[in-house]
Amino acid sequence: MLKQAAQILQQVYGYDSFRKGQEEIISTVLQGRDTLAILPTGAGKSVCYQIPALLLPGTTLVISPLISLMKDQVDNLRRVGVSCAYLNSSLTAAEYSNTLSEAIAGHYKLLYIAPERLDAPLFLQLLERLAIPLIAIDEAHCVSQWGHDFRPSYKQLSERIASLTTRPRLACFTATATPEVAEDIVAMMKLREPATFVTGFERPNLRLAVVNPNDKAIYLKQYVQNRPQQSGIIYAATRKETDTVQHMLMRLGVKCGKYHGGMSDRDREEVQEQFRFGDLDVIVATNAFGMGIDKPDVRYVIHWQMPADIESYYQEAGRAGRDGDQSDCILLFNPADIRIQRFLIEQSMTDEERKSVAQANLNIMINYCLTEKCLQQFIGQYFGQLDVASCSTCSNCLDESESINRTVEAKMALSCVGRMRGRFGVTMVAKVLRGSRERKVLDTKLDQLSTYGLLRHWAEKEVTDWLYWLIAEGYMRLSDGQYPTVTLTAESLPILEGKQDVYQRVSATTVKQTSKST
Ligand code: ADP
Repeated sequence: MLKQAAQILQQVYGYDSFRKGQEEIISTVLQGRDTLAILPTGAGKSVCYQIPALLLPGTTLVISPLISLMKDQVDNLRRVGVSCAYLNSSLTAAEYSNTLSEAIAGHYKLLYIAPERLDAPLFLQLLERLAIPLIAIDEAHCVSQWGHDFRPSYKQLSERIASLTTRPRLACFTATATPEVAEDIVAMMKLREPATFVTGFERPNLRLAVVNPNDKAIYLKQYVQNRPQQSGIIYAATRKETDTVQHMLMRLGVKCGKYHGGMSDRDREEVQEQFRFGDLDVIVATNAFGMGIDKPDVRYVIHWQMPADIESYYQEAGRAGRDGDQSDCILLFNPADIRIQRFLIEQSMTDEERKSVAQANLNIMINYCLTEKCLQQFIGQYFGQLDVASCSTCSNCLDESESINRTVEAKMALSCVGRMRGRFGVTMVAKVLRGSRERKVLDTKLDQLSTYGLLRHWAEKEVTDWLYWLIAEGYMRLSDGQYPTVTLTAESLPILEGKQDVYQRVSATTVKQTSKST
């Protein structure tokens, strides 16, 4: 059947060869095994279930969360002559019942539905009359509370599927699954000995960089001015910031538009079109800008602030270089942004559990900003792809600055954290190390610790930067809750015992070394 799969790829889709992972996934699905496939956006997940759907007898059911996605897929498939349809709330009653009768008559190779559709007992009964060889679940991370996009309607899916007289093979697809989310998908969907594929997260043409400039505005202006007529996207965390950055660039004469959720649909569409056709070189946007952008020659994506999690970051950054040419993905990091993101989480979420998941995801994002490892490898590992070679193009791989021995300051910070017994956050540890006389410190008697005031000559920012760096390197960790506290890790011990030294790249040191501080 694999030969036929390759023929379909050519004849129906017009592509010469499979992309990484596609052939293996299709082959597993065809063998009848449950499958979980984790591939980044744009990697080509759709053909992985569409080709089996065309080869297997009966109608494949595709569960998809968004009406717009269903419509795109169905339009594209119909264009190449595949008989398929969707059933969702955008249809009129007449269209719905027509489509349903065609479906029951077995006229479609693929039927797209929203997960809620399965909540209707009548609909489930009708499905019993169809031969369904495969149920494909798109955006499968929506079943997981740990994912960044949990949807309650996905939660019931597995029960509904289990209630069918014959259970078809299941194939779950997502672009965003940490190992934790992947496990959750397997458990929630009750996948049976699934074959799991994680692939395609490395994008060799993207040069990833984390930059901590003294002045972001100066950095950005220089960067953009040095690249006249190149297409770029600049993501900012808030609408207000979007305005500020856009004005800043327009004053330099850059052809620059903005895009955010507060604008009318018409204005947004217009900006998107202008960008697509090159009337605008740069778009400054919030994360509302994304879905549906398929401009191949975006040469850079700059994040003015750190986003809320790695999934969002990689998805947004990944809009650069779709054409395969070298492109930059630069994250402008300032430790003060951590507070903004925590604040946004506090403001936007009410459910405590969701909040603590969001805080945990943010902690990993912070680690990305501070790690000294290869950034491509960091992202690969985050998504569970362990075989990514170091890229030799990211800001960490290119960093040839010397490392300096910072064991003494590391010991000071670690022993302070140890003495504070995991009950306080970064800010409080910093206050104690700096010997703060604030009430909060005195009332809790933290001024009596032997580590109190050990870094009294450092500025507050220097101490918090130092603590976050130690966290990013795994020497200490932040708990997941809403108010993350700092604790020691297994890697703290050898340092405290004097068995291991801590080195930090000179480029990473925002802390000025003074003789007093060591
Ligand atoms: P995803 O769902 O993973 O985000 P899609 O399935 O929408 O990605 O595919 C992204 C693009 O890649 C589509 O335009 C698709 O037609 C194209 N594509 C998929 N497989 C191949 C292939 N083997 N060769 C070339 N292009 C492909």
